[in-house]
Amino acid sequence: MPELPEVESVRRQLEPALVGRRFERVAIDDPRLVRPYEPAEVSAELEGERVATLERRGKYLVVRFESGRVLLIHLRMTGSLLHAADGSLPDDRHRRAVVKLDDGSDVGYRDVRRFGTWLLLEPGEAEPYLEARVGDEPLDAFFTAARLGERLAGRRTSLKAALLDQRTLAGMGNIYVDEALWRARLSPLRPANGLDRAELRRLHRGIRAALEHGLVRQGSTLRDYRLPDGSGGSMQDEFRVYGRRDEPCDRCGTPIARTQVAGRTTWFCPTCQPDMPSQAARSSSRQPSRSSRHSSV
Ligand SMILES: [Zn+2]
Repeated sequence: MPELPEVESVRRQLEPALVGRRFERVAIDDPRLVRPYEPAEVSAELEGERVATLERRGKYLVVRFESGRVLLIHLRMTGSLLHAADGSLPDDRHRRAVVKLDDGSDVGYRDVRRFGTWLLLEPGEAEPYLEARVGDEPLDAFFTAARLGERLAGRRTSLKAALLDQRTLAGMGNIYVDEALWRARLSPLRPANGLDRAELRRLHRGIRAALEHGLVRQGSTLRDYRLPDGSGGSMQDEFRVYGRRDEPCDRCGTPIARTQVAGRTTWFCPTCQPDMPSQAARSSSRQPSRSSRHSSV
């Protein structure tokens, strides 16, 4: 499933192809993509719109038109966008929509599992829609370790569950949460509201490092994720824990363990990411962390 690094990599590659261009013809072939609206109705509304900017919020691609309208694209599990500069997209039975741009190029939307969504919003509707669903951007300058602490303070769940929640932080999913927690040397089972300041700083660094590494590698291609030019990312070759059960931890050699947390398959190093905060605090010079075991996971 595309997460922040994947969606941002798509955005960066698609931006020069899309910005300034007019949607000349739109064909939406799958009603699920735009439900509860009619594909023909949405297609007609989109035709003639000129793209002002292509942005990202969390895992959403935000296509802003000069009219003030916004098309929110969520790739969900298996969505991808392909840009064909010469207007010749290859045949694809999983294609759900095609946008013909005014320079003769095509943007195709492909989705095997069909969970992706296109939502066309009127001027002024996008901000409240996103505010209600998407929290802080972890790579923004204002997002500090203290801010992370505020976001986690009220959460009576595991760290894993809290970080997967898009309202806590925008854009993290199963891959980058596991990678960030390994970097931070924190167990996914730790209560989200029980971190001391040193641990919060480690987690803040771990989140950013994991996401930035993913961005440099243009995301991870496990199955369906593709960049708009058809190529894949390479982050999957550099995972530290994700999908690496029984392989040695890069830091200590302990075999990576796999378990279920918050209903999701979760990979971690049992030595580097112990359940108990007292052990986790070993490597920091701070005092033993204050009690953090009072809330249930
Ligand atoms: Zn380890």
